[in-house]
Amino acid sequence: MQDDHSTNGGEEPPSDHRLQALKEFHSAGRGVWGDVSNADWNDWHWQLKHRITGVEQLQRLLPTLTPEEFAGAKLANHKLALAITPYFFNLIDPADEHCPIRLQVIPKAAEMRTAPWELNDPCGEDAHSPVPGLVHRYPDRVLFLVTDRCAAYCRYCTRSRLVSNASGYDFHPEFDRQIAYIRQHQEIRDVLLSGGDPLLLSDEKLEALLGRLRAIPHVEFLRLGSRIPTFLPQRITPALCATLKKFHPLFLSIHSNHPRELTTEVREALGRLADAGIPLGNQSVLLKHVNDDATVMKALVQKLLTCRVKPYYLYQCDLISGSAHLRTSVSKGLEIMEQLRGHTTGYAVPQYVIDAPGGGGKVPINPEYVLCRNAGRVLIRNYEGRIFEYPEAADGTPLFKAPKEIEERELA
Ligand SMILES: *Cc1c(COP(=O)(O)O)cnc(C)c1O
Repeated sequence: MQDDHSTNGGEEPPSDHRLQALKEFHSAGRGVWGDVSNADWNDWHWQLKHRITGVEQLQRLLPTLTPEEFAGAKLANHKLALAITPYFFNLIDPADEHCPIRLQVIPKAAEMRTAPWELNDPCGEDAHSPVPGLVHRYPDRVLFLVTDRCAAYCRYCTRSRLVSNASGYDFHPEFDRQIAYIRQHQEIRDVLLSGGDPLLLSDEKLEALLGRLRAIPHVEFLRLGSRIPTFLPQRITPALCATLKKFHPLFLSIHSNHPRELTTEVREALGRLADAGIPLGNQSVLLKHVNDDATVMKALVQKLLTCRVKPYYLYQCDLISGSAHLRTSVSKGLEIMEQLRGHTTGYAVPQYVIDAPGGGGKVPINPEYVLCRNAGRVLIRNYEGRIFEYPEAADGTPLFKAPKEIEERELA
């Protein structure tokens, strides 16, 4: 599918007019931040302090801001705040209204429209929260919301009711109640730190928190979910990696949606994490005009492997209120999955899931490869559409019959 916008995987040369615009843009180096010293630019505190958070500032930096975006940015602070790090902002192609980076972080007026089936808590997390800041939905693991802030805000955020302090959510930064709950529940062997973005905590706070969790004997596995590696790779300092390294086994799931997010800076940050022995996974959200295209998705997952990251989940976009303009169909997701499995490295293929509305948890969604199954055989198809028979007896014992490929006409 080649259409009117730039979902081309970031690998194909842009058209002439776009090339010119990009050239002008990049000739300024860091755009309007051209005069900033390397030391400042590479300092994550500088990046956070200079985030784009206001509509006037946004319009000044992005003169191609559309009326729809202007209206969205003006209203954003009533719902989910506008915040973009200068680093991530610089990845936006100002000449392209449909730039896949732009679509993820620049608000639109459409965010203020709520479709009838959309919810503020689409995954029913609040109903599974035994103490504030903790979601216990699966038997052996919990989601621990350790902050309500992120480096930048994704416009389709599933937790927009909690984060950015725009919706009046009262966040408590002490962790005593959550840790007491985890300590009391011996069935919890896996703690997932998320938020907000846990890597916004200082190294000292992270060290203290991870230390308290590690001190609980039944917590055998720790992981973090963070978009900092792509929004703010400057945060991934050697000191942070050294801190995280003390708490193995510790995994980290990053969040990237488009191959253009995997810049040299991000690749280096991910390399530092991987060198600290942290297994890395990626979570993507299927988003209209961002990555709802098999070519883009394939470029993303393959590039992730070269950054030493295993694509973990591909999420169908949650039914979060105001996200209809970014959602795409489940059949599109299935079509993309079909074009990954078998066509690229197995490690590159994420699991496509729907986080069931109302609190059912993640449900795997797969293209159908089992065509029929009865007492005597399983009929399967492969990625090329060829059909095979696998014989088995009703009780599961193998039949002494050669497995065979079946011509489609034989099935009729
Ligand atoms: C996603 C999620 C987890 C982790 O699920 P995995 O499939 O183990 O990665 C845990 N708790 C909640 C509430 C979640 O949403």
